[in-house]
Amino acid sequence: MIGTIYKCEICQTESSAPNRWYVIHCSDARLQVCKWASEEADRPHALHFCGEAHAQVYISRWFESFCGSPDLRNPHA
Ligand SMILES: [Zn+2]
Repeated sequence: MIGTIYKCEICQTESSAPNRWYVIHCSDARLQVCKWASEEADRPHALHFCGEAHAQVYISRWFESFCGSPDLRNPHA
């Protein structure tokens, strides 16, 4: 049986066995990075990254998008 195919959000690499990938869950207020786990990867709106470098690309974009936002001053938002 063929498993789910995951695609890196940054480089579009596809893998059916992305054991060393990372999963990111994020919203306006928080960003959570997880080591690869299928239960994390399959959650709604999970983002998938083929390695640390591409996870960091996404994290940098996320920070930039909130640069200057007053919401950042409230860690519980
Ligand atoms: Zn990638």
